[in-house]
Amino acid sequence: MNNAPLTKLAIAITLALTLGLLGCGGTEDSTDVTDAASSTDSSTDSDSDDLGTGILHTAYYEFDQDNVNVVLSGTKVVIETTGLPNHTSPYWSSGHELHVEPTVTSYAQMAPGYIDDFVGTYTLTVDNNPTKATSSSATGLGAIGIAVSGAVIYNDEEGPGVPLDDAATSLDFNGAHTGPQSYHYHLEPISFSDDDSNLIGVIADGFFLYGRKCNSTGTYPTDLDESGGHTSTTQFAQDPEYHYHIQNELYLGSYYILFPGDYQGTASAIR
Ligand SMILES: [Zn+2]
Ligand SMILES: [Zn+2]
Repeated sequence: MNNAPLTKLAIAITLALTLGLLGCGGTEDSTDVTDAASSTDSSTDSDSDDLGTGILHTAYYEFDQDNVNVVLSGTKVVIETTGLPNHTSPYWSSGHELHVEPTVTSYAQMAPGYIDDFVGTYTLTVDNNPTKATSSSATGLGAIGIAVSGAVIYNDEEGPGVPLDDAATSLDFNGAHTGPQSYHYHLEPISFSDDDSNLIGVIADGFFLYGRKCNSTGTYPTDLDESGGHTSTTQFAQDPEYHYHIQNELYLGSYYILFPGDYQGTASAIR
């Protein structure tokens, strides 16, 4: 909130260090954008031509700056998060400032555990300029992506052979719940994407996941593959690039599943 002077100082120091390293013939071009608020409105663009020269994909500037640390290292992007969402939920413990009463679920139906029980980090390393794999691959249980809020993204299964239907009543208004590890999304998270083209997060294969609409047309894309992906421009890419969308297909009559399909790229583990 009021750490703007510190932010500017941090950027100045980062720049100074980077320049210093380069001046000494430093080995790797590393840019820390944790506190990149003042960079988002710069003239930086996401031209794919620039990616090879060490400019972080501008979509990463959408990630919560308190919970998520994004570092470009050569051609790789390292995304580290606290796993904690930056929005309200009944899954915060009752004394927490972001705690709200359950609406679409109830205390009786909620999964055990609070968001703030989780103390740790999740780290994902992906290509800054990912490409599709020769064949798709199935997602697994656990985190399959990191959302812009800081919390992680799961697929459409609750456990080994356990469909999400069995746990749907425990999901909060963001289609998320806790357990067995940390708070995670299964459905459209309306705190930051509600029938729009907003960025949801990055999937473990390095491709971005957007809301149900595409910025390139302003409406629901009609050319999606079986993973909800297609290639077009986005609000963060002037040149067309492959990305996923939440598919505009109702689940259990009133929800939209975040990512029920296969990876179309090569996924890295989220640890
Ligand atoms: Zn779950
Ligand atoms: Zn699109």
